[in-house]
Amino acid sequence: MNPSTRVYVAGGDTLIGSALIEHFRSSGFQNLVGLPPREPDLTQAVQVEHFFAQARPQVVVMAAGQSGGIEANQKYPADLMVNNLLVSTHVVLAAFRQGVQKLLYLGSSCMYPRDAEQPYRPEALFSGPPEPTSDAYAAAKLTGMKLCQAFRRQYGAPFITAIPANAFGPGDNFRHESGHVIAALMRRMHEAKMRRKTYVEIWGTGKPRRDFIYARDLADACLFVLEHYAGEAPINIGSGSEKPIADIAPQVAAVVGYDGELRFIAAKPDGAHRKSLDSGELFELGWQPATTFEDALRETYAWFLQNHQETECMNDQTVYVSRSQDATRTRNVNKLTSCTNAVLSGNH
Ligand code: GDP
Repeated sequence: MNPSTRVYVAGGDTLIGSALIEHFRSSGFQNLVGLPPREPDLTQAVQVEHFFAQARPQVVVMAAGQSGGIEANQKYPADLMVNNLLVSTHVVLAAFRQGVQKLLYLGSSCMYPRDAEQPYRPEALFSGPPEPTSDAYAAAKLTGMKLCQAFRRQYGAPFITAIPANAFGPGDNFRHESGHVIAALMRRMHEAKMRRKTYVEIWGTGKPRRDFIYARDLADACLFVLEHYAGEAPINIGSGSEKPIADIAPQVAAVVGYDGELRFIAAKPDGAHRKSLDSGELFELGWQPATTFEDALRETYAWFLQNHQETECMNDQTVYVSRSQDATRTRNVNKLTSCTNAVLSGNH
């Protein structure tokens, strides 16, 4: 890869996609193609094929596909699954036809069997069922990875997979119901502070632990992996540590400046107890995360403060699974809904 390589970040409007675009730019890449809002609708095969033929990307990072927190996964398994299956299939197929130099498919730690030994190692994939609250999304992400491996085996395609830990950062989905824990708590605590509310609710027991990775560090790791990894097995991208929700809630409160009670609601689901990734292989190759957890929280909150008027307009009924904040992304989610309907009615 060099500064003139044509790079396409599929899903440029997602949390990870937008961090990737920023990171590619700041690393000197001058030929980024398919940038939002000009990205094709990846649920539409014809649009994707047309885009690849026109833009001729040489390197593709597959960060597209709807995702959501524990509640969105439980409420919208069909929407999440169909969206991820469609976009992965379309992008992988188009990248193959285009003959790209490299494709990096981003999976999810949900892909691991819930009861596999911790920290999760790639060998554990498919050794048992994933966490039930997110198994439809996990099945779609596993299928995307298998598709990449199948193209490698049958055609020698240069497709690799990385599995990121729980990402957060600027551009995250800050909606109460569909967001992931850090963004959801940040917004809830911010609103509680503004409204002088005496407590905020934290879902579950607080005991589950997660391996959190800052989106900018994740983007840096993706670039590193593109340059230094070519194996068929997926490579984990984690922080190397895990934190209980009971510990991160007061840290988020401190950054937000909220001093009310943190009330754990055990009736809400905990999800997987642990989802720690063994990132030893990546660390041995020479990569390490650069941002402390506290700095990452501060930067995320600063972004939220600058953008929260937009995010406050959003509600979970209209755009429940998007990590998006702007009209383009809302448009894409609406397309997801109509796409789902088309599939269900057999018109797709
Ligand atoms: P996942 O469970 O790793 O897919 O990701 P989430 O970010 O949705 O949830 C991580 C953990 O945080 C789970 O144990 C949740 O029960 C807990 N949690 C606590 N409060 C919240 C919240 O407001 N939103 C979400 N999404 N999770 C929360």
